[in-house]
Order: sequence, then C-alpha cells, then structure tokens
Amino acid sequence: KVRTRFAPSPTGYMHIGNLRTALYEYLIAKHDGGDFILRIEDTDQEREVAGAVDMIYDVLDKTGLHYDEGPDKPGDVGPYIQSQRLAIYKEYADKLVELGGAHYCFCDEETIEAAKKENADHEELGYIDPCKSLTLEEAKQRIANGEKYVVRQTIPSSGITSFEDEVYGHIEVENAGLSEGVLLKSDGYPTYNFANIVDDHLMNITHVVRGNEYLSSTPKYNLIYQAFGWEPPVYIHCPPVMKDETHKLSKRNGDASYQDLISKGFLSEAILNYIALLGWSPKEEKELFTLDELIQEFSVDRISKSGAIFDNDKLKWMNGQYLKEKSLDELVNLCLPFLQKAYDLSDKSEEWIQKLIDVHRDHISYGEEIVEQVALFFEDKMQVSVEAKEFMQDESIPHTLEVFKNHLSNLSDEEFDEEHVFACIKATQKEAKARGKMLYMPIRIATTGIMHGPDLAKSIVLLGKEKVLSRLEG
Ligand code: GLU
Repeated sequence: KVRTRFAPSPTGYMHIGNLRTALYEYLIAKHDGGDFILRIEDTDQEREVAGAVDMIYDVLDKTGLHYDEGPDKPGDVGPYIQSQRLAIYKEYADKLVELGGAHYCFCDEETIEAAKKENADHEELGYIDPCKSLTLEEAKQRIANGEKYVVRQTIPSSGITSFEDEVYGHIEVENAGLSEGVLLKSDGYPTYNFANIVDDHLMNITHVVRGNEYLSSTPKYNLIYQAFGWEPPVYIHCPPVMKDETHKLSKRNGDASYQDLISKGFLSEAILNYIALLGWSPKEEKELFTLDELIQEFSVDRISKSGAIFDNDKLKWMNGQYLKEKSLDELVNLCLPFLQKAYDLSDKSEEWIQKLIDVHRDHISYGEEIVEQVALFFEDKMQVSVEAKEFMQDESIPHTLEVFKNHLSNLSDEEFDEEHVFACIKATQKEAKARGKMLYMPIRIATTGIMHGPDLAKSIVLLGKEKVLSRLEG
C-alpha cells in the first residue's frame, strides 16, 4: 500500500512550496488508495515557532488534505512528533554504530575546526574525524566515563553511491565527496539527516516526496539504508517554486505564504488548484481541477524538473473563476471583513452592502480587492482622472448631463431604483440625441468619476439620489 508523509518543521507560516509538497504527497497516496501521514519534524528546537504546529493542522484541515495518521490521529507507527521519539533515534543510532554505518565522536568544535584547516588542501574529504580510528570498546568506555559525544555518519572513503529519482532520474555521487555529518547530537536530538530515515522506515513510508534541495544529500541517506539493510523508499524530488527566473519563492524574503493569501481573501480551493500546476501538468489542456479531479489525474511522471514560477496574476485569474461560482451570501462573507476594516459602514444598511458587493462581483478576483473597487462609494470628494477630464471636454456633454439631471430630479425618493434610473438614461438618449459612448461615459464620469465600472444604473442607485444630483450639479 502506498504511504506518503508530509513532514513539516514547525517554523512558522505555511510556505507555498511546503503546501505544494503536502498536496503532491496527498495526491500520490490517494491516487492509489494509499495513506497520507503527517509527521511533525520538531528536532531543531531553536527554529521552532510557538503555534506553528496548530497552524499546520489548521492549513491541512482548511485545504482538505486530510491525513490518515498524525499526532492528533494516532495510527500504529506513532508517535508522530519527532521530539517524542528520541529514545527510538538513540536505539537506532547505537545500532547503526554497531553495523559500521556511524561512529561515536568526541571532538569539540575547536578540534573540528582545527582538523578542517589541516585538511584544507584536500577539502573534498571534508572533516576527517580522528574518532573514526577509535575502537568501539574505547568509544564505549569514554561514553561510560561521561564524556560528551555525538553520533557521526561513517562514509566509505571511496566508491560511488547512486539512486534513482522518479523526477530527476539516475543520480550518483562519489563517496569521497560526502561529508560525515552528525546524526545524533550530544543533547540526544537527531538531525534531519538521521530522523528522516529512521522514521520513513519505521512508518512504512513507500514514497518520499520533498523539495529538490534534498537531492544532493539523498545518497548519504541511502548509505544509511544500506547499512541497516533496509529498502530505501521511492524518491520523488520536486522542482522549486520560483519567484522569478533566478530566485526561489521564500517567506523569508516576504513572499506570500498560504496564510497571507487567505488573509487577502483568496479561496483555499483556488490556491490548492493553482499550486497543483506549479511543477505538474495535466494530460489535457485543462486548468480548473477540484481536489477529487486532481486525485484522479495526478501522475508522478508529469512532474517537471525545472522550477515553476509563482505567477500572482495567474492565481488571481484562477481565484476569480472560483469566485464566480460563489453565492451572494458566500461572497458577502468573504468581502465584508475587508469593507468593515476599510470604511465606516455604520450608516449603511445590510441590503445596501449586499448590493454593493453584488454589483462588483465580476470586478474582483479576491476578497481584499473589493476595497479599492468600491472606494468611490465612500468618498465625499470624487476623484477624476486626467483621462476622464479630457473626455468631458466634448461640447455636447453639458447638455446631455443637464437633460439627465432633470429626469433624475423628477424621480421621487421611492422611485430612485434601478429600473427608473435606467429609464432616465434612455430618456436622455432620446432627448439629448446622445448615443453609446457619448451617453454612458459622461454620465458615468460625472457621477462616479471613473470611465469604466460596474453597471451604471445600479451604481447610481447605490450612490443615492442626493449625492448623484449634487455631483451632476457640478
Ligand atoms: N522537515 C523537512 C522540511 O520541512 C522535511 C523534508 C522532507 O519532507 O523530508 O523541509
């Protein structure tokens, strides 16, 4: 049975790249009716951020990437939080030493630095650890004496280690080029380089899906699998998500996280749909996929090797497509918080707010965009662009506006609705002999200040009789 895992480190917001990894892991498992597992990799205590684990639960829940096993959904191979598995890592680290895949090392930082300097002329060897020459008995004796130690990987000084990656193909490296990194630190915490192997093995993970920054260390991991006599998983390394041609998308540089996008009023299902296409392409030319459709369609052989650029405009477009399917209530729920934050709504009725949002539904691609779109309905003084002012120079316009104003002012307050306002526009068309652009544009500019906007009659009703007449006044 296919088993994949999402293994985030709780270090802050959910990066777009991380979420995409989670999605691909989920899709690969579910495509084959397999299991998707959540494992929290919290062994780097210094980088841990309070609340980050809850954020991970929350994002997976909101996006519908439901895991079959995880810290709050126990299965047979827990615990699913690495800091709760320290005894396991210790046991396997000792075992690996016995098997010759690692050794105990007592060097302190200064010794290591000094040794590195000494080896500077053949740097490809990395750090040559003098502790490698200790016998196991000697090392155990020093541990029994209470000396501090780490468990360090032992790498053969010659030969080649290779593996097959499902995306990048055959990868091989010279063992001599691999550094002998720490697997278990002196405080008993494992490094990623060790914990990922032990856990993936003990949790029966069949497919390891992760970012291609791990591609170069995977041979080292395979040496450990070999030493244990374990079967390595299928490796699927994914291309990076890029900000542009040369830079990776990174939260550290202020690029948007999943939470940032949600807080701007993007829809979870649209974000997920969009990121599915960052590094994977479907067989047919189709872009809108539900999660279920993605499960059907997803295939590892269509994951690309090269980085995929995160295109904000494309995401906006896609989000807009999803917004079109939303009911007015859903749209109001999405947009209202942004309006409340930006404007004083105390004198507006619920109905007015609903209409305002409805009129603009085709003009926004995500929630926060409503704020700038409706600005003119909240301004006392109308903003008119240079281009609009120029348009208004045509000498036929004052007459057209005069006629329109007269018709409007004949409407009673009760009559001031879409139907009657539209009739006034029609009457103006006849009476002033203004047609098309020379009819709508002057009225639109004179009442709203902008040249292009949502339905004119509806906009005028939303602005209200008093405001419209005073604007037509001059
Ligand atoms: N904790 C690692 C990370 O967040 C996981 C990498 C992996 O999936 O193996 O980058």
